Amino acid sequence: MNTDFLVVGSGIAGLNFALKVANYGRVIIVTKKEIMESNTNLAQGGIATVTRKDDSVQLHIKDTVNVGSGLSNKRIVKILAEKGPEAIRNLLSFGVKFDKENDELHLTTEGGHSMARVLHSGDSTGREIEQSMTESIRKSKDIEVFEDCFAIDLILKNTGCIGARILDIKNRKMCDIFARVTILATGGIGYIYQNTTNPEIATGDGIAMALRAGAKIEDMEFVQFHPTTLNKLGAPHFLISEALRGEGAILVNARGERFMLGYDNMGELAPRDIISRTIFNELKNGPVYLDIRHKGKGFILDRFPMIHQECLKYDVDITTDLIPVSPAAHYICGGIKTNEYGETTVANLLAFGECTCTGVHGANRLASNSLLESVVFSSLGAQKAKNYLKNEIEAPPQQKETAFANIETQELNYIKAELRNAMWDYVGIIRTEEKMDLMLRKLEHLNRRLDVFGGTGVNTQFLEIKNMVTVANLITKAAHTRKESRGTHYRTDYPTTDDKNWLKHICFEQREEKLHTFFT
Ligand SMILES: Cc1cc2nc3c(=O)[nH]c(=O)nc-3n(C[C@H](O)[C@H](O)[C@H](O)COP(=O)(O)OP(=O)(O)OC[C@H]3O[C@@H](n4cnc5c(N)ncnc54)[C@H](O)[C@@H]3O)c2cc1C
Repeated sequence: MNTDFLVVGSGIAGLNFALKVANYGRVIIVTKKEIMESNTNLAQGGIATVTRKDDSVQLHIKDTVNVGSGLSNKRIVKILAEKGPEAIRNLLSFGVKFDKENDELHLTTEGGHSMARVLHSGDSTGREIEQSMTESIRKSKDIEVFEDCFAIDLILKNTGCIGARILDIKNRKMCDIFARVTILATGGIGYIYQNTTNPEIATGDGIAMALRAGAKIEDMEFVQFHPTTLNKLGAPHFLISEALRGEGAILVNARGERFMLGYDNMGELAPRDIISRTIFNELKNGPVYLDIRHKGKGFILDRFPMIHQECLKYDVDITTDLIPVSPAAHYICGGIKTNEYGETTVANLLAFGECTCTGVHGANRLASNSLLESVVFSSLGAQKAKNYLKNEIEAPPQQKETAFANIETQELNYIKAELRNAMWDYVGIIRTEEKMDLMLRKLEHLNRRLDVFGGTGVNTQFLEIKNMVTVANLITKAAHTRKESRGTHYRTDYPTTDDKNWLKHICFEQREEKLHTFFT
């Protein structure tokens, strides 16, 4: 099968790129589950942009760079902040509706922002965006969407990337899709951790594929842990949006004492890494709660209807009860290294969204900057994408679809559970050399167990676990290498930030199956 643009992933980054290039050529989107299954669909808080008269691009840049702890690329952050308002107009053109108050866009505050600048649609901003974009995609005659199609690997020639090998899950077939340019928009990695806000799709496939294809991967040690997720036995780590704290919710310990102000002047609105570590430590002495009851039932139901409903499922009524919370893996700041047009270090391979490292986030992400990053850079990439139409489609004359043999085994479930538990325990919120040594040994062991399956067939579970182990290895190696604490990366054996030696990025590249580490 041939196409002009092959987009892997149907979150905000992939859908936005597809909608923008549909005027120029034929687009195929492959996505491993249903179109709406994505991190985007779960985004709650909103999207940060300068819209107020008393706000400024300079202030948005300053806040982003501050939270990035010395490793954000200021040129790229400037593009992000300057292009923000255009990105919002772009979303409005797809029919996205943001909340208004007195005919003005309603803005909320989140951690690290020096003023309210986050646009939102109630507490389901991501769903509103994903739905509106999906409707536009469905109306386009130039875009085909293949759901339940899993991208296994990129197809390479000396000219660069020429497409991807796809597993059609429902029809039990493998086929190659050839394209003038291939786009990875595969999202994050949260699911490699036992406790995460991310859905099952977030297994880092795009990052693993790009690594195998020879692309550079950067800043992988910087995994952001969200401080406040529902902490109830038997409940998923459902996100309790930062917007609650933005609207005045406070954190209290088991004795009912408000504790955050003792650790940071910004209190409950300190950067996420500081709050996550503080809660993690407080949890050693008993439960930690978020309290928004003082805002009143009317306000809470109006502003946070979805969070209210979700918590009720687990017997927590946020209008009358304290909400038990704990941190969970949430967002990867690093990923496939790209420039502002999404160009990777492999020819004819672009990447957008959470799977990338554009340089915006550095060592930590400012809240609500990731939806914005996805739109801004996929739009810029789309403007340049016409250039790829002159590429030949390098498909062989005879293309074969091959049936695949399934692997049915409990062992894969065990491997996945062991990996996720170990990543949480050994390369989580608080890291040490000793624990990361254990993780590196664990990964070698898990890889040997996965090798046993080699040649017996494929299924998505096997492919995902292989990718998860690859990504876990990058995170662990980077975290092990960085002998300091910075942003989301905290080590008790190197608890301070060391600008003299570590104001640099850790970058990986795989050549002839060997992983090379270097600094940029
Ligand atoms: C609970 C939650 C709340 C959040 N809240 C906010 C917020 O308020 N503001 C903000 O800015 N950010 C927020 N974020 C982060 C933000 O949602 C994500 O960073 C962003 O949506 C990523 O978009 P994306 O398009 O890169 O990836 P995603 O939206 O995750 O989409 C990835 C797509 O790739 C597909 N895919 C993956 N691998 C393959 C494969 N091998 N083959 C085929 N398809 C594949 C997936 O199925 C999916 O369709 C939140 C994240 C979570 C989890």
